[in-house]
Amino acid sequence: MAETLLVLNAGSSSIKFELFAVGPDERLTSRFEGQIEGIGVAPHLIAQSHTGERLVDRPVPLTQAPDVESAMAVVEAWLAEALPAPPVAVGHRVVHGGPLYAAPMVIDAEVLAQLETFVPLAPLHQPNNLAPIRALLRAHPELFQVACFDTAFHRGHPPLADRFALPETLWAEGVRRYGFHGLSYESIASRLPEIAPEIAQKKVIVAHLGSGCSMCALEGGRSIESTMGFTALDGLPMGTRPGQLDAGVVLYLLSAKGMDLQAVEHFLYHECGLKGLSGISNDVRVLLESTDPRAAFALEFFVYKIAQMTGWLVAALEGLDGFVFTAGIGENSPTIRAAVAHRLRWLGMELDPEANAQHGPLISAKGARIRTYVIPTDEELVIARHTLALLRKSQGSAP
Ligand code: ADP
Repeated sequence: MAETLLVLNAGSSSIKFELFAVGPDERLTSRFEGQIEGIGVAPHLIAQSHTGERLVDRPVPLTQAPDVESAMAVVEAWLAEALPAPPVAVGHRVVHGGPLYAAPMVIDAEVLAQLETFVPLAPLHQPNNLAPIRALLRAHPELFQVACFDTAFHRGHPPLADRFALPETLWAEGVRRYGFHGLSYESIASRLPEIAPEIAQKKVIVAHLGSGCSMCALEGGRSIESTMGFTALDGLPMGTRPGQLDAGVVLYLLSAKGMDLQAVEHFLYHECGLKGLSGISNDVRVLLESTDPRAAFALEFFVYKIAQMTGWLVAALEGLDGFVFTAGIGENSPTIRAAVAHRLRWLGMELDPEANAQHGPLISAKGARIRTYVIPTDEELVIARHTLALLRKSQGSAP
């Protein structure tokens, strides 16, 4: 039986997991993926093999999964039944690595304590990401665990990109433009040499358009700028988040509307974006099918902002050679991709309608100046690779 690695991605109401087998040549192959969802409300455990076979699909008593930490024990118990041997290592997606962590870290009590100090930087995400780490560290102190950060890929940004026009004391205490979706951008950057070798070392914008949305400027495969900043609220409009917003609007909500901190936080994370604009849905599929003019306006706004922020990133890159669409909307919606390309036709973006309808990978028209691609992101594989590399290093067999 091959060694296996487990990848975990814990959110506020779910823990997603994927199990990879390590081949004799260290090649990683997905065996199954699943999640426990509805944690604290109506927990449900579901998993399917890479061939699509349903492995488990059952409700979990609420008493067993009232919070993320206890839900981890449910996942563990199921894995113990499903696997002949426990995984050799666990890799975690952690949203925030703070100003320092520019690479994945092997977790021990000290690193966990450090990661806990970043909770104020990502109060809605970081505590949930850390809960399974804490649970596993307590139950299996010997287990090899690795944290992979969504901020790490952006830590090579030039200082100009990371600063706000705020006094230095705030910069020193960590109020910086971190950038997120880094594991997704790393996944795309790692695939460019094979799928799009002609642009892999050039100036490329990657648009991660999912329930969260951001764009990253890559030069030579490295991130130089991101539309997301201090938190995952900045940049593009998203399913339920507004994206770029005049700070004065927040002051208005607090003063004129009398909203308190919790109310504003809930509003900005859950009631804005496509959902707020349309008053219909946060889901692009629903908006595309709707005949309501508010749905059309919300989508037009979304596309307009993608085009505007492209201009912003092109200025940072001082040019553009390639554009990549990825994540739920980017990978699946030819309509949104075509609308973005139309707005960016002045830049030399032109799609081949047939290639676009078939989701590429190359979707730009022959001779178009901007080589445009659709490339599926695989954040879990990036985490699994980092986890395996650090495991081998700790075993003294790193290349
Ligand atoms: P996350 O992993 O952050 O939950 P995804 O990358 O899976 O997000 O993206 C989810 C979003 O993708 C959904 O909200 C939906 O709007 C969008 N989406 C998925 N499939 C399609 C499709 N065929 N057409 C348009 N949008 C889609």
